[in-house]
Amino acid sequence: RILELYLAPFADGQEGGVLIVLHDVTERHRHEERRREFVANVSHELRTPLTNVRSYAETLKDNPNDIPPDMMDSFLGIIVGETDRMTHIVQDLLTLSRLDSGQSEPKFEPFSFGDAIDSVYKANALEAKRRGHTLTCCNVSKLPTIDGDRNRLEQVMMNILSNAIKYTPDGGSIAVTAGTTKNHVWMEVSDNGIGIPVADQGHIFERFYRVDKARSRESGGTGLGLSIAREIVTRHQGNLRLAPHQGPGTTVRLTLPITQG
Ligand code: ADP
Repeated sequence: RILELYLAPFADGQEGGVLIVLHDVTERHRHEERRREFVANVSHELRTPLTNVRSYAETLKDNPNDIPPDMMDSFLGIIVGETDRMTHIVQDLLTLSRLDSGQSEPKFEPFSFGDAIDSVYKANALEAKRRGHTLTCCNVSKLPTIDGDRNRLEQVMMNILSNAIKYTPDGGSIAVTAGTTKNHVWMEVSDNGIGIPVADQGHIFERFYRVDKARSRESGGTGLGLSIAREIVTRHQGNLRLAPHQGPGTTVRLTLPITQG
């Protein structure tokens, strides 16, 4: 713990005595530390694509007539790709900042939990097929209506499912299951992919945390998806965590209360 010590005179001006005041500033220091780390991460994440854009653009500018068309194409492709990457990062940062500042509170409305799962499942089916994965989904028709922000929660489901697709080598198996307990609904996404080492498991919901930066970057990841997802779920009084998993791969579990309040 970090303590700050002040010596203060007695309030009534009584001579000969001081008051020793101890402030526990651990939380403030931790907060400051997290903020500094976050700013450093943002700067680093943006600097890499910016440096790439600049160097390719400069090469094109300095050698307008000496670059063969196929190389020109590849350079321009890199510039567009890196610009898209920065746009994703900035969009994710804006989402986080709106969530942090309470500017974007969820709009609670009743919706069918099963329909939401079904639409996220369908939205990912093509990409799963392209990667040769077997993607299965449970029978969602019996799931109840819940109170929540459907768009936001679909974004959470989308993140979990697209991670399963991304972090599973081609030809893998991904299963979406769901169910209810007394007052809650749950959804689990299990894959037989690369898995998350035990040492990293406690960190993957942190901002910018990625087990393998290169792999995440290659697949367009920003390292912010799960931290945004957890913020959204917390605002629904729900829970997002890794669940016990048999064999290679990962299981992520989303739990939400059926009614708010
Ligand atoms: P990213 O944009 O990098 O995918 P996320 O916040 O969504 O960021 O996830 C954080 C990190 O957690 C990922 O970079 C990856 O290392 C790890 N991860 C998330 N889901 C899975 C999964 N299903 N299998 C393996 N690793 C995963």
